[in-house]
This record gives sequence, C-alpha cells and structure tokens, in this order.
Amino acid sequence: MRFLLKNKIIIISSSIIILLIFTFFYFKKAVQPVQIISNPNMTNIIPTEEFISQNSTDVTGAVQILESDSSQKEFIGKQEVYSFDLVDKHEFENGDTIVGILKNRGFELSEAIALSNAINPIIPVKLIQIGDQIEIYRSEKDRTYKIILITKGARLAVIKEKGVYKADLIREPAKLNYVYREFLIDDNFYDSSIRNDIPESILNKAIELHSKNVNFSRDIRVGTESKLYFTNNQSFKKGENGKFELLYSSLSNQIINEEFFLYETMDEKKNYYDRDGVGAGGMKIISPLRKLIETSKYGMRVHPVSGEEKMHYGIDYAAELNSPIFAIADGVVDFIGVKGDFGNYIRLSHANNVKSAYAHLNKFSENLIKGSLVNQSDIIGYAGQTGLSTGVHLHYEIIVNEKRINPNKFDEEINNYFLTNEELAEFYIEREKIRNDIRQLEQKITYQ
Ligand SMILES: [Zn+2]
Repeated sequence: MRFLLKNKIIIISSSIIILLIFTFFYFKKAVQPVQIISNPNMTNIIPTEEFISQNSTDVTGAVQILESDSSQKEFIGKQEVYSFDLVDKHEFENGDTIVGILKNRGFELSEAIALSNAINPIIPVKLIQIGDQIEIYRSEKDRTYKIILITKGARLAVIKEKGVYKADLIREPAKLNYVYREFLIDDNFYDSSIRNDIPESILNKAIELHSKNVNFSRDIRVGTESKLYFTNNQSFKKGENGKFELLYSSLSNQIINEEFFLYETMDEKKNYYDRDGVGAGGMKIISPLRKLIETSKYGMRVHPVSGEEKMHYGIDYAAELNSPIFAIADGVVDFIGVKGDFGNYIRLSHANNVKSAYAHLNKFSENLIKGSLVNQSDIIGYAGQTGLSTGVHLHYEIIVNEKRINPNKFDEEINNYFLTNEELAEFYIEREKIRNDIRQLEQKITYQ
C-alpha cells in the first residue's frame, strides 16, 4: 500500500509540473496571439503576418495505438478505443472563434457559447493561436458531442455531463506494454526467472504472493511451470520504481496449482486475489458445525468443571451427540487421538500457518490418520463429551503462527480479505479477461 501511495504522489506531482510547463509556454509563446473570443459580439483582432508564419501544428489524432514488440515470447498490443467518432476537424484561421466554428457546423448559439465558456477557465480562448485545432466527436452511444481542443502546449476535452459542459486537460495515456512469459523452472524460481528476462520487481512480487502457501525450497521442484503476465510502462525509465506491474502469476506442478490476479476494487484499492476472490495469503473458512450456538467465549472465565479462573483458548459450541464436525478448510491431519482433558481431539494444519482444533469428540471419521489430507467441509468427526466436559459440546480452536487466537477474530488476525457479491462478480469478469489475454498469447508462443 505504501508503494501505491508513493506512486500516486509521483503521478500527482508530475501532473502538476506538466501543468506548470504548459502554463509557462502559453504565456511565453502567446506574445502576439490571435484573439479568438468566446463572445461572438466582440470584434476579432487581426494577427500580424509574422505571427501566422510562426505557427504550425504537429498534433495528430487522439487515438493511441501501441506498437508491438518483435520478441516471440512477448506480446504487446492493447488499443485505446474511443467510443466517440471524429465527425469534423478544423484548424484555427484568422478571425476564427470557437463559437463561430461551432455555429457554422450546426451547433445552437447557446450550446456553442456554453462550450466556449467551459474551455475558457482552463485555456483562455483569447490565447488560442492560428494553427491550433478543434476536433468534434460524436458519441456512438447517445449522440452527444465531445470537443477536443488541441493547442501547441495542451489538449483539452469538453464533454456534456448531466446537461453541463465540462472541460478537462487530457492526460496522455500511459504507454503500457503487456508482457506475457511462461517457463519451466529448471533449478530454482529466482534463477529461472532471471534467465527468462523477468524484471526483478515482478519476480519479487510473485515470490511474495506465492510464499504464503508455497515453500519455495520444498514445493518448487524442477518442471514447475510459472506463468507471469505484467505491464511495462514505457513512460518510465529503466529500473524506475513502478515501471512494471504484475497482473497475473501462476505456479503449477503435480502438487500446487496457484494463481493470483491483480484486481482493483470499486473503491480503487488494488490487491491480488486467488481465483476464488480470496485476498493473497487469506483463507475463507467455514463453520465447524451446521449450527453455531456459542456457550462459552474465548477469554478469561471460571472453568465450569474445576471452578478455577482460567484462560479459555477456544470457543464452545452447543451440539447434539454425534453432530457432524466439518473441516473448516483444506488441510492435513496434524494430531488425532486422546489429548488429556480435551478427550478425543483432532487438529488440522492448513495453509498460511493456520491450524484448527476440535475437542471432546465422541468419535473420529473412519480412515483418518495423522497425515491424512482433508478437504474443506469434509466430516472429520462427531460431537461428544469425552475428556473433561460438562455435556456434549464442541471445543473449537484456531491457531495462527502457534498462537491460539479468538476464532471470531480470525479475519482480523490474519488480515483476511475477500470479495463478495457484486465485487466478486466484477472480479470474475476481470479474471476471465486476464485469462483470455493469456490464452491468446499462449497460442502465439513457439518453443524452439
Ligand atoms: Zn472449551
């Protein structure tokens, strides 16, 4: 997050600097400007010959198309597509006014004046020079107009929003190259990535994401496939912070199959999510019982049997004899058997250094032994009152980094975040977009 903030600051401050430069050039260049006025009743000042010859335009259309790279494994080529069609274009000549130009093209006088007035606070219309251009676009969708004013130093767009004309400087779109690379790891992830021309910031990000669930020295064996999809911002210099942004990373072999997608939420927070919309390093858990009725909280309490004041490191839930108990997440059986006052006790080990424990069970599910793999929602046992217990109940614990935490505060404790409802639906759309991009790029890859 700090990194993003820093980036924002860089973008904002560079925008301010660019604006200042524009302003400077305006006032410097406009020594003898053609006076182009928004009020059609005012007379125009005729510019000198000398001034006219000084001016030329070098600004072309506003649609940005990025060129592609010749490298076989690298594919670039996203297009910025306008939803507006260019319908007319005019170069300012002697005596032109914005109002006049628009009126000649069928705009109502009041519309033309409103447009001109919207431009004036940002680029004073009297500073518009001969050779500056005006482009008229019409929306494919609702037939509204967009005006783009192109001067020597700036571009300005005027659009109608809720009946009001609004003008804004057009910022040059970031020149992004989209880069996709896939490779098989032939020794370790770091060296293989470097050999495949993965920028260091991208591979560090990938390691950070995957290391929550993957042990790089144990799980990443020769032949593990890595797929990385990222942007390379051409407006940044080499090695500059923020030049590369990871959009997608996957690692897969016979054991692991992990993907992370960059997604920006509706409130503009960018984060990485797995394919189910769970934040990187997070975990979506389910309830250990069908119905949760808390009978004893996590925290200090007087023990119901011993009468001592003691810390209660879990939550007790009321249960009927032999109510099924579910694995809260995928995991491995870490302990199964009798454990002192806990009676029949089973503990599962999950990803992210999370464990869950279930005590006082009447019996365990058949075939479970230490080391068994369990899937989320598998029945692992049945409620009972073995060990030191006043009645049938489930004593349930969650252990994070060897510490027994309050299960009700699980999301907070592990900084868990996941997408839900509309946000999840949006994420799925974005996820498929990224997957489609990658699918198309994969087809173009030829291995030698
Ligand atoms: Zn308990």
